[in-house]
Amino acid sequence: MREIGHFIGGEHVAGTSGRVADVFNPATGEVEAQVTLASKAELDAAIENAKAAQPAWGATNPQKRARVMMKFVDLLHRDMDKLAEALSREHGKTLPDAKGDIIRGLEVAEFCIGAPHLLKGEFTEGAGPGIDMHSVRQPLGVVAGITPFNFPAMIPMWKFCPAVACGNAFILKPSERDPSVPIMLAELMLEAGLPAGVLNVVNGDKEAVDGILDHPDIMAVGFVGSTAIAEYVYSRGCAAGKRVQCFGGAKNHMLIMPDADMDQAVDALVGAGYGAAGERCMAVSVAVPVGEGTADKLMEKLTPRVENLKIAPYTAGNDADFGPLVTRDAYARVKGYVDKGVEEGATLAVDGRNFSMQGYENGFFIGACLFDNVTRDMTIYKEEIFGPVLSVVRAKTYEEGLDLAMSHEYGNGVAIFTRDGDTARDFAARINIGMVGVNVPIPVPLAYYTFGGWKRSGFGDLNQHGPDAFRFYTRTKTITSRWPSGIKEGAEFVIPTMN
Ligand code: NAD
Repeated sequence: MREIGHFIGGEHVAGTSGRVADVFNPATGEVEAQVTLASKAELDAAIENAKAAQPAWGATNPQKRARVMMKFVDLLHRDMDKLAEALSREHGKTLPDAKGDIIRGLEVAEFCIGAPHLLKGEFTEGAGPGIDMHSVRQPLGVVAGITPFNFPAMIPMWKFCPAVACGNAFILKPSERDPSVPIMLAELMLEAGLPAGVLNVVNGDKEAVDGILDHPDIMAVGFVGSTAIAEYVYSRGCAAGKRVQCFGGAKNHMLIMPDADMDQAVDALVGAGYGAAGERCMAVSVAVPVGEGTADKLMEKLTPRVENLKIAPYTAGNDADFGPLVTRDAYARVKGYVDKGVEEGATLAVDGRNFSMQGYENGFFIGACLFDNVTRDMTIYKEEIFGPVLSVVRAKTYEEGLDLAMSHEYGNGVAIFTRDGDTARDFAARINIGMVGVNVPIPVPLAYYTFGGWKRSGFGDLNQHGPDAFRFYTRTKTITSRWPSGIKEGAEFVIPTMN
């Protein structure tokens, strides 16, 4: 059995805790490998390595640090197929989608090549008599990232690329469900010229997470995962005095206005609702057609499209729409939600529960499911399902549809499909959700903007990637200087002002 350990101080390190977790191939349902789950002692060893490596790395000029990112981007291109294969094997997503996962991380690495510019401070000459003032951005020291299973390449890169480009050392605690790719990424950073110990990967579960949250030498923690754990990490990390940002779950709505191009809206819904088997925090899981006529037209076009979605293991070629769910537990949870939806009275227009993948009967495949007549009080509307299940909630008016999205506890992404500029503008201005698409179903901002949800989808005050990442992973120091020629004789007892 393949053993997946840690990557500490530039070396592969076997686990010593004696605790392991199974890593599955979701397509076959077989155990692929075992990942070691770190104890506090192993985490401490990684932090000691990071502490030893950080001062020299932080003092390395930003252009040299940027060159490491540049080389890393080249290496990602070189190893794209290998990385995508490893990613699909443990996650289950199709190979083209796995490449998308890697490329969305690579684009953040490209953004980080701009570190010398992004880290520039400010300077005021003559801020007072003979006084100059300037500010600098300095790295925090040792920082950590805790990441989810659904983007095992992209989200680790969203975390460690800006952190190390800013001069920090990093401890990555990836998901224990698909741990191979994060280690491969750390190997590539080493090959790109990152000094050993600057980027460490510690595999583990709650014990490793708690160790990170309580450790006095970790200055900041970036987390992505489910909301319950995001809230836990945020409160425990903040209580320990750290800078913390946590990104949680989602329930993304897509409003379809009566004037929308219905074919485009249906294309958007099948891609955004069922791609990656719905295991995306920006997946559309609620479609809100406005007006009975729009709803009927939508269901008429959408139902056959959902019935005919192509499901396959990643090895079957590139034309599948989606693959299996990540684990047997995920399968049971998603199926349980569909059962619950039926029980609560929603209309199950497409029932994928009995789907079986020929030749892969033990895989974690579930067919696409589509619910109509879903209402606000139903569990399948209130909770995140994280599977290939789309709920249609019929709204009578635009105001009702807007209120629906605004009243939901999650606020990650939202979209509106319309040809009307006034409606689109009003929607974008009033909606209380972090990322908004106008005729764009998955409005994930590009690397040079920032990514973050509102309400119970995001905790903390800075977003991921873009300029916010450089703010999160640095702290500002402001220096006021005056030289002897500018100093008046005598002590001053009144607070200096600019009067
Ligand atoms: P998860 O919350 O189960 O796990 C996330 C991380 O937390 C993992 O590293 C895991 O090991 C750790 N963890 C799990 N249980 C823990 C516990 N009890 N105590 C401490 N740490 C614990 O999430 P997941 O299932 O891996 O990922 C799916 C979730 O992530 C979905 O809710 C999805 O919406 C969300 N997500 C959000 C974003 C975003 O940017 N908002 C992006 C991707 C995924």
